[in-house]
Amino acid sequence: MRTSILLSIFMMIMTCAQAQKTPETTELWEPVPPVITPGEGYAAPSDAIILFDGKNLDEWTNAKGELADWIVAEGCVTVKAGAGIIKTRRGFGDCQLHIEWRTPAEVKGDGQGRGNSGVFLQERYELQVLDSYDNKTYSNGQAGSIYKQSIPLVNVCKKPGEWQVYDIIYTAPRFSENGRVAVPGRITVLQNGVLIQHNVEIRGTTEYIGSPIPEVHGTKEPLTLQDHGNPVSYRNIWIREL
Ligand code: MG
Repeated sequence: MRTSILLSIFMMIMTCAQAQKTPETTELWEPVPPVITPGEGYAAPSDAIILFDGKNLDEWTNAKGELADWIVAEGCVTVKAGAGIIKTRRGFGDCQLHIEWRTPAEVKGDGQGRGNSGVFLQERYELQVLDSYDNKTYSNGQAGSIYKQSIPLVNVCKKPGEWQVYDIIYTAPRFSENGRVAVPGRITVLQNGVLIQHNVEIRGTTEYIGSPIPEVHGTKEPLTLQDHGNPVSYRNIWIREL
């Protein structure tokens, strides 16, 4: 009796081992990834939300939720100094974001005063936009930095007046039920096709003075572009929710 049980167990193990040896065992046929169409060059793929296509700011408001009045001309939108930030009407959490930017060809000012703007994920976390071509400033505040939190791996900035690209992969922070940040957000950034932030932890809100502050907020929050008083331009802004 005992021998027969042992034999059956042995046979089962052998059967499993045999099954593991077929290629089909490790093939997954479900789920099937959705078919999308890639864009040519930097054009948006078919499943992206177009936030700015060069024509209007319909997807945007000012800080008060009223009409965004930055300057739209020649296929791009330019910061109107003093108008304040603009933000998306929709909120976003985890996402892939493509955004192109250009600092003024005519160089004025230096350090943080030259071509300063910024892309704020979820209204709070700034990926710095700055003319960092031959323009010394603190490293954790130069273009491509997560402002005052993470220095970019390299400076791959183009000359003032040339269009540059950020491709961003963002994972929003997760919050616990007792009102704490359970898992901090993370960000990966390619600038002009080059990796400059590699899955970096975001420690909290962007602060000009003092340390980042971990903050509980909505799972979806607007994307914000900064008015820092310099006429920085943006174009071809699209986002894919993840
Ligand atoms: Mg800035």
